[in-house]
Amino acid sequence: MFGIACSECASMNSYQVTTGAFFECHQCHHEITVEDLDIDPSEIWTVDANGILGFVIDPIVSLREMSDAIDEYMGEDHDSMGELEALRNFRDAALRLQGALEVGVPYPVAKM
Ligand SMILES: [Zn+2]
Repeated sequence: MFGIACSECASMNSYQVTTGAFFECHQCHHEITVEDLDIDPSEIWTVDANGILGFVIDPIVSLREMSDAIDEYMGEDHDSMGELEALRNFRDAALRLQGALEVGVPYPVAKM
């Protein structure tokens, strides 16, 4: 899960879920709702097991990046820097997918 900084005091990973529909910064008590979040369409807001607000990358995006990385790898020369870069891209996308699954975002179901 990627952290979110408080828009008031800039503390990282400080917004904690409250009993209401708010998240409160445990440093400065600034409150926000999910409507206040400015996240990319490829990102999904989430709350970890400790109630801390953060975001993950949409698994559909990570799976597409993993597929693209395999295509890159297949197009590179054997033992080239491009091959290494493609492997790094695959690993990074796989870790982002793992991060989304760990916080409970469902694995995308293929539409038939
Ligand atoms: Zn704060």
